[in-house]
Amino acid sequence: MVIEIYKCDMVFYCNDIQRNKKIPKPASVFSIYFANLRCINFIPEMDRENTYDNPHIIKLFEGNPGNKIIVVGGIHGNEEAGIHAIENILKSFTNYFDPGKGSVYFLKGNIPALENGERFIEKDLNRLWIPDIINRKKPVYQDEIPLKKLHSLIINDICKNKTQGCTFIDLHTFSASSGLFCIPADNPQSIEMARSFGVPFIEKLSTNLQGTTLEYFGAKGMTSVVFEGGTHGTREAVNNLTYALWHAFAYKGVIDENIDAVTKSREALRSISRQYPHHLELIYHHQLETYHNFRMKEGYYNFKPVKKHEPLALQEGKVIDSPSDGYILMPLYQEKGSDGFFIVTEK
Ligand SMILES: [Zn+2]
Repeated sequence: MVIEIYKCDMVFYCNDIQRNKKIPKPASVFSIYFANLRCINFIPEMDRENTYDNPHIIKLFEGNPGNKIIVVGGIHGNEEAGIHAIENILKSFTNYFDPGKGSVYFLKGNIPALENGERFIEKDLNRLWIPDIINRKKPVYQDEIPLKKLHSLIINDICKNKTQGCTFIDLHTFSASSGLFCIPADNPQSIEMARSFGVPFIEKLSTNLQGTTLEYFGAKGMTSVVFEGGTHGTREAVNNLTYALWHAFAYKGVIDENIDAVTKSREALRSISRQYPHHLELIYHHQLETYHNFRMKEGYYNFKPVKKHEPLALQEGKVIDSPSDGYILMPLYQEKGSDGFFIVTEK
């Protein structure tokens, strides 16, 4: 009868089908998941901040443990749009969330950097997801504190060291002036999910960037995608990230895909993306030192076509040319950042 036992320290109600009544369970106990009795009706609006005691939690909706979706906003502290998109979703998520189909965890990324409105404090948190850095006892950079807290929350508390079957969605924005796109980790289920958004998606980018959440969780067998919603600080970016989340929850089955929010979000993503190529791959990455003397030429934006030898930027007084034909991606128009630009081509 008992199929699975897991630590559940939240109050929930279990429909006992045989006795046809709801049994309230107390908080902070090991509860038993009777799969054969279809244990349903977890109270989704329960706020778990105190039970996990981790400041990175925005809101948790725990239900079926077989399909866990982890959403993070603000891995970069100057990208608050992800947090605002989560807030948008939370306004009505309880109306649609089906706890029998999965669990959803909304988290915030680099808290000190978010408080300062800076991309990071000392080192880009999205370049630190490397086992040697995660496991070192004494942090070298301040940004390793949120790194360790997030890592322990996601791997130990949420995934319970069973990452297969978990999904990771990382919400970002960029400094260029237009576009939206998705980047999958280098595994088939991530590529399929990236394709499903209907926006441009770029392969071979995740393996090119060392120490990202995308690469780290993808390598652990998770479905892992980054969604880049638009320009930092714009309402458009918040809207696009909100659309992406509605789609993603329906795609993963934790909400009904026939609700208005999903239909409208899918239409919006398709309509915005009509002007862009759909399936692309990385062919060049112009990498910089963290403290660089790099100035992108004005007028570049995501997916602007570029020609081989076209002058794109100035670096240490030298002109940087495009190494090939293609489309430019994420041209850098901010001081902090270690990626000057990317060149992608249609696949
Ligand atoms: Zn970012």
